[in-house]
Amino acid sequence: MAKKEFKAESKRLLDIMINSIYSQKEVFLRELISNASDAIDKMYYQALTDDSMTFHKDDYYIEVIPNKEERTLTVKDTGIGMTEEELETNLGVIAKSGSLAFRKENEIEDGHDIIGQFGVGFYAAFMVADKVTVKTRSLSNEQAYKWESTGADGYAIEKDDKEDIGTEIILNLKENTDDEDYDQFLEEHRLQTIIKKYSDFIRYPIKMTVTKSKPQDEDSDEYVEYQEEETVNSMVPIWRKNKEELTDEDYENFYKEKHYGFDKPLKYIHTKVDGTIRYNAILYIPENAPFDYYSPEYEKGLELYSNGILIMEKSPELLPDYFSFVKGMVDSEDLSLNISREMLQHDRQLKLIEKNITKKIKQELKKLLRNERETYEKFYDAFGRQLKFGVYNNFGANKETLKDLLLFYSSTEKKLVSLHEYVARMPEEQKYIYYAAGESNERIEKLPQTELVADKGYEILYFTDEVDEFAIKMLNEYEGKEFRSVSSGDLGIDTEEENQKAKEEENEHQDMFVKMKEILSGKVSDVKVSKRLKSHPVCLSTEGEISLEMEKVINAMPN
Ligand code: ADP
Ligand code: MG
Repeated sequence: MAKKEFKAESKRLLDIMINSIYSQKEVFLRELISNASDAIDKMYYQALTDDSMTFHKDDYYIEVIPNKEERTLTVKDTGIGMTEEELETNLGVIAKSGSLAFRKENEIEDGHDIIGQFGVGFYAAFMVADKVTVKTRSLSNEQAYKWESTGADGYAIEKDDKEDIGTEIILNLKENTDDEDYDQFLEEHRLQTIIKKYSDFIRYPIKMTVTKSKPQDEDSDEYVEYQEEETVNSMVPIWRKNKEELTDEDYENFYKEKHYGFDKPLKYIHTKVDGTIRYNAILYIPENAPFDYYSPEYEKGLELYSNGILIMEKSPELLPDYFSFVKGMVDSEDLSLNISREMLQHDRQLKLIEKNITKKIKQELKKLLRNERETYEKFYDAFGRQLKFGVYNNFGANKETLKDLLLFYSSTEKKLVSLHEYVARMPEEQKYIYYAAGESNERIEKLPQTELVADKGYEILYFTDEVDEFAIKMLNEYEGKEFRSVSSGDLGIDTEEENQKAKEEENEHQDMFVKMKEILSGKVSDVKVSKRLKSHPVCLSTEGEISLEMEKVINAMPN
């Protein structure tokens, strides 16, 4: 065969390609399968415009064939194939995409099914192969051709006797090294895993002959191995199916299959958006917090698909921190990907999706709170703290999103209540939303400071989480009502008369207070008459905005 050289810049490009753009070698298979799918799509488009052609879906498939003896891996398709010229231009010129050209020629809009656009995916094969052979016969030509290359030093094209239309890509896998195991790409199980991971939703069957075993005969313990062809991918992603046809069980199975969690999801949200950005998302609220949830090790994120092909396993940009517990996936046809298809070119698109998703999750949680109280409380038990951290950490927009979702234990209701419920119950003359902070509900109940407020018949929210009071300080008010700690100096419930009386008492016992202050010097800064006590003789309190409980937390913080 006459050998042709890659152009100099192509050589360099190929080198860069092979060594640096992909973070994982296994994606070579995703690229070859995507090309095969594109080739079949092109057949389909051809049939749409050509009356003499019919398209029977069953005739079109992709096959993955490992051969351990030869150490080859073949990806075969029944797609449109390539002519000699196409081999030359599409595979001989790096960064030339026949698929992009096809899309333009046929005026196929952006975001349609055809995946290829950069003209580099094919060369990912050289990450794992030291020789790549392409045998192909085009729909428009009787003669088949073979393209062969060992990488950077060029390629050769010659005639081939392949009879059926379509393409076969044969990879001669590299020898194993100390660091790299290439034999893994010959293992049926490993290949199935890679196909499922990246190409599960390719619309054509990806077939593979797999080894199985069965009992020799009905009541025998002896097993015999046999071979069977299987379709590895599920083809239609659950999120593209009609919502009406899907059952709770389908969504639960998807959650399990995708290993989003070991629990059963508390709630799922399936949303399809056709706005400025189009996407499909299935989101789950887990039942339990993962063991590492409240630790720095926990990584938030959703799976990100572009047109059914996995781009990122955990895209953190899709979720705000306060909803970091949400699991699931987003598929969008409107993403502009970078060349390795592992990243996006514009964060703007993700931002937009994140904004929409956040709104949706909030709506669903509110609905849950309204209609399925018990389930909501279960959710709150697992993830409520995260919402409160959300209110505290990033005031501004977050608190608006989150304040309606908070629950606190109520002194009068003896259960968790929302701030809205609290305010709705407030008697007209009650000025503030009262709260008391402490270690536990039992401890708070015994606080002398709660007595006066409780005696007025006012409801008190119990704050037992360290973050509670900090979060509420960020909120400042809810539905126009300010928060007030029961240990605050001004509870807003004293009458003029009571104030007057306290002043008089203070004057009357001036000497005693001076004496007490002397005895307690260094331990307290002042001793005063309290208007808050009923049956208890004394209580400790702080001045200013920082409560005793907050002080404890702040003191315990590492410097
Ligand atoms: P892209 O898919 O982004 O266009 P690739 O490097 O993956 O870039 O492929 C380059 C071109 O080679 C494709 O656009 C297509 O025209 C052609 N090609 C690759 N694989 C096949 C195949 N299996 N069948 C037909 N054409 C193919
Ligand atoms: Mg491609």
